[in-house]
Amino acid sequence: MNLELSIEFFPPQTAEGIEKLRATREQLAILQPAFFSVTYGAGGSTQERTLATVSEIAAADHVAAPHLSCIGATRASIRELLATFRVRGIRRIVALRGDLPSGMADPGEFRYANELVAFIREETGDAFHIDVAAYPEWHPQAKSPRDDLRHFKQKIDAGANAAITQYFYNPDAYTRFVADARALGVTVPITPGIMPIASFSKLARFSDACGAEIPRWMRKQFESFGDDTASVQAFGLEVVTDLCQQLIARGVPGLHFYSMNQSWLTLEICRRLGIG
Ligand code: FAD
Repeated sequence: MNLELSIEFFPPQTAEGIEKLRATREQLAILQPAFFSVTYGAGGSTQERTLATVSEIAAADHVAAPHLSCIGATRASIRELLATFRVRGIRRIVALRGDLPSGMADPGEFRYANELVAFIREETGDAFHIDVAAYPEWHPQAKSPRDDLRHFKQKIDAGANAAITQYFYNPDAYTRFVADARALGVTVPITPGIMPIASFSKLARFSDACGAEIPRWMRKQFESFGDDTASVQAFGLEVVTDLCQQLIARGVPGLHFYSMNQSWLTLEICRRLGIG
């Protein structure tokens, strides 16, 4: 099976979190992911921690990809960060617009992710492999699916090498998105983002905010489990493994796991898939 795995972390805040993530990463390394990515807080709020986390991952001989969001940033600040990434051996970036944090009034010098992609290419040529975000169920602020797809293509045309999707639980949304992107001439790999389910209440909150749909048949089942975490996780493993199986059967280039800094759900899903 020629499937490229990648795994996402968020930058830990405490010494204990750093230790825990180190152990998580070592456990997940058995899956031989193509890269580990590390999220970047809105408006640059985690810049130092993201940098420290990717630097440690790169120093352990893994490919590390910092996420980089441009909202609220200046050209000079991004230029400086790109130079630091290069010095730290970083060769891959997940380039995003991000969301302006509440209370931060100045949107900075970039309006959309395609401008960041173009800027990275202008400044650094082919020094970085650039991934961008894709939304099979559409970005919550998109005026229309057609508009969102056009904006997605702009990011690829600006020089992105690949895309990672927001998570979803309806494989048809992904398949249709990819077909529509291909019809527009987009040829880069579009890797589905996979969200393992540790807690239904957290997933429901997060999904409302980012516009990912939890299908009714899943929601009803989860709601019926109430506080029974073991049943939530057992059902979550079943549906996410089944989703991955369907995606693999449809020929996806890889799977990008939103690990939430935990190893066991991702490891268990991969075990059931026969990976690693
Ligand atoms: P864009 O591609 O710029 O799109 C944002 C919106 O603007 C869309 O509705 C689009 O249709 C519209 N748009 C784009 N171009 C134009 C244009 N020229 N004119 C008018 N409208 C336009 N957030 C974080 O804060 N940190 C992270 O680390 C992070 N990692 C992520 C990783 C992945 C794989 C994904 C899928 C999302 C991630 N996010 C992260 C969330 C992301 O920052 C938000 O979804 C954000 O609202 C949009 O970022 P984007 O890069 O997709 O923006």
